[in-house]
Amino acid sequence: MLTWKDVIHYSVHGNPKPDKRVEKTEAEWQEALSPEQFRITRKKGTEAPHSGALCSIYEAGKYACVCCGTPLFDSTIKFDSGTGWPSFTQPIKENAIQYEKDTSYGMVRVEVMCNTCDAHLGHVFPDGPAPSGLRYCINSESMELIQNAADHE
Ligand SMILES: [Zn+2]
Repeated sequence: MLTWKDVIHYSVHGNPKPDKRVEKTEAEWQEALSPEQFRITRKKGTEAPHSGALCSIYEAGKYACVCCGTPLFDSTIKFDSGTGWPSFTQPIKENAIQYEKDTSYGMVRVEVMCNTCDAHLGHVFPDGPAPSGLRYCINSESMELIQNAADHE
């Protein structure tokens, strides 16, 4: 399980290697994404709180990167943080996410990105629930919910 210590370690010393890489030009991403998805994932934007479609959804499934389809989070580790953004306590795999120190807006935060395609997802904070103590605060627009096939039977 990842903790804040691991997050800081990755943001300072470099991230774990992803299983694969997806790289496209800015024009290709713009073509593939909606204007809002492009603004958030490729331009490090943020959606308004409580605006995201995935904010209050707790159906079973995996949350995948909207840009490259790589699974990032599982519904079992989603929790209601009350912030207005989908929140998770762990990534689905240790190497699914990359971490970078973000000093924009006069704050020191840790930005989280898709480790496969560098899509901006949101930030991670050390004030989440036990046992990991992590709160991944993620834009709905950065993800799509892939519902478990078993739930449709
Ligand atoms: Zn991605």
